[in-house]
Order: sequence, then C-alpha cells, then structure tokens
Amino acid sequence: MKILLTGGSGYIGSVTTELLCDDGHEVVVFDNLERGHREAVDPRAKLMVGDLRDPQPIREAMRQAKPDAVVHFAAYALVGESMQDPHMYFENNLGGGLNLLAAMLESGVKKIIFSSTCATYGQPEVMPMTEALPQKPTNPYGESKLMFETALRWAQERNGIQPVFLRYFNACGATEKYGEDHDPETHLIPNVLKVALGQAPAVPVFGNDYPTPDGTCIRDYIHIVDLARAHILALEKEVTGAFNLGTGTGFSVQQVVETCQQVTGHEIPVALSPRRPGDPACLVAGATKAHEVLGWQPRYPDLQTIVQHAWNWHHAHPHGYRKE
Ligand code: UDP
Repeated sequence: MKILLTGGSGYIGSVTTELLCDDGHEVVVFDNLERGHREAVDPRAKLMVGDLRDPQPIREAMRQAKPDAVVHFAAYALVGESMQDPHMYFENNLGGGLNLLAAMLESGVKKIIFSSTCATYGQPEVMPMTEALPQKPTNPYGESKLMFETALRWAQERNGIQPVFLRYFNACGATEKYGEDHDPETHLIPNVLKVALGQAPAVPVFGNDYPTPDGTCIRDYIHIVDLARAHILALEKEVTGAFNLGTGTGFSVQQVVETCQQVTGHEIPVALSPRRPGDPACLVAGATKAHEVLGWQPRYPDLQTIVQHAWNWHHAHPHGYRKE
C-alpha cells in the first residue's frame, strides 16, 4: 500500500513509519518538524515538510502522493499545555485535521487511521473503559481530538470517508532505532529515566491524594510497537470505527517509579508536587473490541519489558536525537 502519514517525525509516527516500511509499504511522511525530529523519519520513507494549518501544502502532497490511505498523527498532545492555551489545540488538532480531510475529499482518498486518545472519554465512572462509554473530555486536548473524530464521522456518513479512530492509552517504550524525545519532556517514563541518567535530581509526582490505592494516578501503559501494529492491522482490514488500545492493566505513578528503579538499578528520588490540571485519576482500557475485530493483541504488555525497551533507547541516546 501507499500511505500518506502525517507526523512521522514524532514519537508514535516514527515507529509506525518504521514498521510500515519493514512490511514493504511505501510511506510518504508529511510533517512540519515543529516538535518532531528529522532524524526520527525512517530513511526508507519520503519526507515532505509542511504544516497542516496551511491548507495548500497538504492538498499538494495529497495530489502528488495519491495514497491508498492516510495515517494521521500530526497534532499537539499535551494535556497541561492544552489547559494553558486551548486555542492552540483547536487550531492545530481540529483546524489542521480539517485541512487534511479537505485534501482527502478533493483527491478522493477514503481511508484514514486517526490517532485519537482515551482523553476523549474524560474520567468515566467505570473501568475498564470500552468504546461504548460517553465521550466527555476534561481538557482541550481530548476535546480537540473528539471534535475531529466528529468531523470524520460526518464525512463517513455524507462523503464515504472510511475512518478508524485508534484511542490510545499511554504510549511508551521504544524500538532500537526510535524512541521518545520531547522538549520539554512532560511524560512520566522518560522523566523518570532522566533521573536514572543523572539528568534531573528527582521526578515530580503530580498529586498523591487521588482516589486510588496509593493516591497517585493510574494509567494503562502500552508499548509503542503494539500501537504501531494496530495501525497496520487497521489499514489491512476493511474496518471503520473506534478502537481502544491499551493492555487492560493500570499502574500508578508510584508503581512506574518502582519499576524504573528495578530496571535501571538506580535510585529514583521523587518530589511530591501539586496535581496537574486536567489529569483524570484513573484510565484503563477495555480493548476487547480491538482483539476481536482487528485481531490485535499486545506483544509487550509487561511494564518491566516496556521500561526496559525505553531504558535501552534513552541509555543509547542520552540527549535524544539531536545531540549525539
Ligand atoms: N506524571 C508525574 N510526573 C511527571 C510526569 C507525569 O507524576 O513528571 C503523572 C501525570 O500526572 C499522570 C501520569 O503521570 O498522572 C501520566 O502522565 P503522562 O504525562 O505520562 O501521560 P498522560 O496520561 O498525561 O497522557
């Protein structure tokens, strides 16, 4: 297949590009390189540099590439930042998405795998979370992703677009080549590993008074390779609709810190900090639909393995992609 993939220089996009190329697909990466890294774009893919907020470059890329399908990652993805600046999130995640959709409609490209998120659900009453739950985001990041899901659902109804919404839980881990490198880094596992590398004195723990057994937030950590494989399955199968992607097991911030200590053999001091606005207490996936319909099963559900792979990458790239 020929795939146009937006956001291929980012964390999940880079690994999905790698796996698509491994499987022999032809990949055109469309990316503005604002938050990603040129070095993270698999050299087997063709890179087109452009920003989705500008309607013209993506129309041109779509016309030139004539892809069989689109995989759409390019977006801002930080809950805290979205609470500070909601407009930035709607402009990029919704506005950019609409420009992408317009380009698809113009070029007659039907299939799109959209990188969505469990943040579209908000904080549900019941765990694990299935796709049937109401979507009530608690932050502009989740809302911006939900709004583009809605636009795609109407484009399915009225224009024959075939959307798949992959609602990720917490992406983590790495391949040998590609890993997580954000500036500033806000995600838990890389921040803990920074302490193990001696690059930070302690990891902040954002709140220990949540209604969870140890008081810290619970998340479902899913290996990046498993996420990438779900995109390939969704491309290969005649499916549309939403799929939650997680392991079905939740770990608290404290448990993640302990696992990182075991894997790295380093002491990880923590610094108790105030709650981070917009953070739900507990998010754990019910991924039965992805198992049944996509035939997807996580290969690396074990947190030790996930952290080990992340540690291997951070150890080999202590300053990320740029300063090697
Ligand atoms: N977290 C933390 N310290 C950090 C980074 C994150 O305590 O340095 C917490 C955060 O409040 C959340 C969980 O770890 O409860 C996962 O956060 P992350 O930013 O990795 O992913 P999110 O769930 O926001 O997508």
